[in-house]
Amino acid sequence: MNLEAPIESVKGVGEVLKSNLNRLGVFTVGDIIDYYPKRYEDYSDIHKISSIKPGIVTIRAVIKQASSKYVRRGMNITEAVASDESGSVRLIWFNQPYRANSIKKDEEYFIRGDFGLRRGRLSILSPTLELVSDFPVHSARIVPVYKLTKGVKSSQIRTIISNLRNSVSLVEETLPTWIIENNKLVGRSEALFKLHFPDNAIDVENAKKRLGFEEIFQLSLASEFNKLDLTNEKAPIVKFDQELAKKFVSSLDFDLTNAQKKAVWQIYKDIQSTSPMNRLLEGDVGSGKTIVACMSAIMAVNAGYQVAIMAPTEILARQHLESFTSLLKPIKMHKSVSLLLGKTNKNDRSKLLKDLKNDKVKIIIGTTSLIQDIVSLNNLSLIVIDEQHRFGVDQRKKLMSKSHKVPHVLSMTATPIPRSLALTLYGELDITVIDEKPANRLPIATSLVSPNSIKQMYDRIKDELNSGRQAIIVCPVIEDSSDEVNSVEKVYLKLSKGEFKKYKLGLLHGKQHSKNKEEVMQKFSDGEINLLVTTTVIEVGVDVPNATVIAVLSPERFGLAQIHQLRGRVGRSHYQSYCYLVLSDSNSPSRRMRALATKSSGFKLSELDLEIRGPGAIYGTIQHGALDLRIANLSDVKLIESAKNSAKLFIENKEKLSNYPHLSDNVNKLRKITNFN
Ligand code: ADP
Ligand code: MG
Repeated sequence: MNLEAPIESVKGVGEVLKSNLNRLGVFTVGDIIDYYPKRYEDYSDIHKISSIKPGIVTIRAVIKQASSKYVRRGMNITEAVASDESGSVRLIWFNQPYRANSIKKDEEYFIRGDFGLRRGRLSILSPTLELVSDFPVHSARIVPVYKLTKGVKSSQIRTIISNLRNSVSLVEETLPTWIIENNKLVGRSEALFKLHFPDNAIDVENAKKRLGFEEIFQLSLASEFNKLDLTNEKAPIVKFDQELAKKFVSSLDFDLTNAQKKAVWQIYKDIQSTSPMNRLLEGDVGSGKTIVACMSAIMAVNAGYQVAIMAPTEILARQHLESFTSLLKPIKMHKSVSLLLGKTNKNDRSKLLKDLKNDKVKIIIGTTSLIQDIVSLNNLSLIVIDEQHRFGVDQRKKLMSKSHKVPHVLSMTATPIPRSLALTLYGELDITVIDEKPANRLPIATSLVSPNSIKQMYDRIKDELNSGRQAIIVCPVIEDSSDEVNSVEKVYLKLSKGEFKKYKLGLLHGKQHSKNKEEVMQKFSDGEINLLVTTTVIEVGVDVPNATVIAVLSPERFGLAQIHQLRGRVGRSHYQSYCYLVLSDSNSPSRRMRALATKSSGFKLSELDLEIRGPGAIYGTIQHGALDLRIANLSDVKLIESAKNSAKLFIENKEKLSNYPHLSDNVNKLRKITNFN
């Protein structure tokens, strides 16, 4: 059958099934061949009746007789006897009276079901039957299981694809021959055939390798092409002024870490060139990324350009304003910094916009308020995007388009990106990692707290508060009517009336008015609040060095990277800091929770999360549209590297994308949704 033929032209696909398949995106014969199994069940082991043991078994046997009877009202039993040359066994179905008539007597079947003691006799319960043929569909082979969804059963898809077995060979190759050969891949149609009709586990592996390779290859190619485009653009040259850099560094009351120095140095090199910088600065919480951003900014300002700094929240933007102002004071640049928030009032706003236009304001810090239409930044040479994963592609692009120059872009994140993801999703970026913390920091002591030792934890927190430190309690939700969930409102009320009556408590969550939020944050910063009860709004950026304890309630609800970020709110000074993960029940803690207590590297944790929970775990923290890979395993670094190398070669060899129509379609789609174009 022709691959373009409508799905309803396949034998057995009626109106209802057709429309259900359409809803899965399956319209043609080609579409269903391209529909991948979710997993497999190995039904290839066929046993002699004389040797079967209790459990799920498959036999090949002739059914001699079958009868059905009502033992009482509403209870029908169908019984049959199946025999092979080694013996006989009874088959039983409950309440399936149609069975007796549908069984073809004296025919040979593959019979699969649960063998065991039933009503005092050994029988196979509720077996599935399939007439023996050269190409069994549902039994006697490694059976693919398709996602059961929207009214389409796995067995229906199996039947359709089996009917199309001969059409799979019509599927055309989509990759260049040299790529298939270099990477020892099977051809596309062979891969699809093996995927639906594997003879063994190796077939499945080869099929997945080929199709997964293709997915990553497309993604890599998209980012290579995006990169290529960028090299044709020209950004302003920001010349390096050594005196200024020295002056800034000597005004700090600490030494930069080596990692910070390296990062700054690399950025200075990047921005001295006309090819636009597109660098991701990745550094664990508290590793001191702000200073790196600030040092980049001063060079741009010194060269006569403007800088825009976008942060995901108002709290964070405000904090950047404070940090920048105090960092810039000694070099007398602090007057050229300004803040633009969504709620900045009309008068201030129009003054600010004017100052931006006439170049009085050199460094503008804000939230997504910066991308509003009225803001124009004509003299922009550098954009800093803090916590970049919190922004969408469109938002980043919009900010870049604020200037008619192509700006250099420095993205920053504290979310450690596993190497495999860095290679695929972030393929277009140059990455610098700050892998070192300021020297005076002690590791944060993390412990798991079972629900019945919460009282002791409160006592430990009080000890800290009594010695002048501050603490944070993070709750999973804002409000909740049920009793089971620790909502921030409930916990705040409970603690301020009970356990922590004698202390000053603050409440902070995302639904508060921003004025409220700021007031609370300011008070916490100033040390007027001892204990802050909050949600994950506290997650990013908040820098209160005097805070030394953070307790996370129901930590199982969060991703590991997220908890690691939360934990980074403490340990920002020379004081020993503590993180308590208050488990939801007293069962033994999961591997993920144990990892938090033993591992202090954000990288290790996010790799573990990727392994245990899959890319979905990072879904929450990294925005993307490209992660919807259907088959490639994102922790397979080897596969990713080879696909990436092939993409590079494709470009180097000056291969024409238009020679590969299928590839070209997909790559062009991906180019629009990969992160940095
Ligand atoms: P993050 O990387 O999480 O954004 P910040 O830039 O907020 O970290 O820095 C955290 C704290 O560490 C700030 O108070 C900052 O002043 C301080 N800091 C940064 N670099 C150093 C350093 N080299 N030595 C000591 N303290 C530093
Ligand atoms: Mg920061």
